[in-house]
Amino acid sequence: MTLDPVELFLTAQQWLFEAVTQPLLFHAGFGNLLEDGYRATGWLLVGLLQIAVMLTLFRALERWRPVEPVTDRAAVRVDVLYTLIHRLGLFRVALFFSLGPLWDSLIGELRVAGLPTWSLDDAWPGITDHAVVSFVLYLLLFDLVDYWLHRAQHRFGWWWELHAVHHSQRQMTMWSDNRNHLLDDVLRDSVFVVVALLVGIPPAQFVAVVACTQLLESLSHANVRLSFGPVLGRLLVSPRFHRLHHTIGIGHESFGPGTMGGHNFAVLFPVWDMVFGSARFDDRYDPTGIRDQLAGRDYGRGFWAQQWRALLRLVAPRST
Ligand SMILES: [Zn+2]
Ligand SMILES: [Zn+2]
Repeated sequence: MTLDPVELFLTAQQWLFEAVTQPLLFHAGFGNLLEDGYRATGWLLVGLLQIAVMLTLFRALERWRPVEPVTDRAAVRVDVLYTLIHRLGLFRVALFFSLGPLWDSLIGELRVAGLPTWSLDDAWPGITDHAVVSFVLYLLLFDLVDYWLHRAQHRFGWWWELHAVHHSQRQMTMWSDNRNHLLDDVLRDSVFVVVALLVGIPPAQFVAVVACTQLLESLSHANVRLSFGPVLGRLLVSPRFHRLHHTIGIGHESFGPGTMGGHNFAVLFPVWDMVFGSARFDDRYDPTGIRDQLAGRDYGRGFWAQQWRALLRLVAPRST
């Protein structure tokens, strides 16, 4: 019997597909979507595994040394809803049926334009085609894309109004990562899909890259006093590092000029903040949120209120 994690994952995916997805698809009259259903089952399994790690390890960390007491459980429950919608695949299924045809034609056009004709795996034969090396390269590459997407979310007024949904959580926990505007998610996912095509990442590697990124994102939002020390803390984004990004008046404004408003944008690797001059490794744990919330600005309590208010801010930035 093998204990290869990839084999184990594939076995579990097959089992889950046969036990749940396949009967559901046939029942709903979508027997023609079995291949897509199998892929979706992989994402569902990734989400279930992530939630299992969150409920055991991350929850234990949050109980061990919380930054602040959880006084607003209702606010956390909304973030749990965001997490379930995303990690259990509801968002992807909705995208598949709404934007799927659009993406397919975009992908078709990219292929007609001659892409991808190469893969990052082939860049340096003997080195970059080694599974671990290419995986780390893909992680770095997608993290660099994430870094600049995140800078853009803070740089452009209209994009900030969407991203403000994420920053308006004043009770930040491990559930807060997926608290985003749906339009914002569509934009980010679209960029990722196009980049994945351009660099020719194999689908299994792409799933692994997204899975690792999401898991560390959940940890970095956790309500826990935890930094990874002077060395590891500069290699991987810690809860302390990301909390500073969410800190009122600092994370998305600035300590000083020259950082285009904010600090600690990196998702996985602080190296991008270090290279582009936006890193802060201060040993502090402050309240999170947006400055104008202190003056009473309302970003919405429930899921729909948060989504709707962001659209209103887009139309009339100052009056809502
Ligand atoms: Zn941000
Ligand atoms: Zn965040």
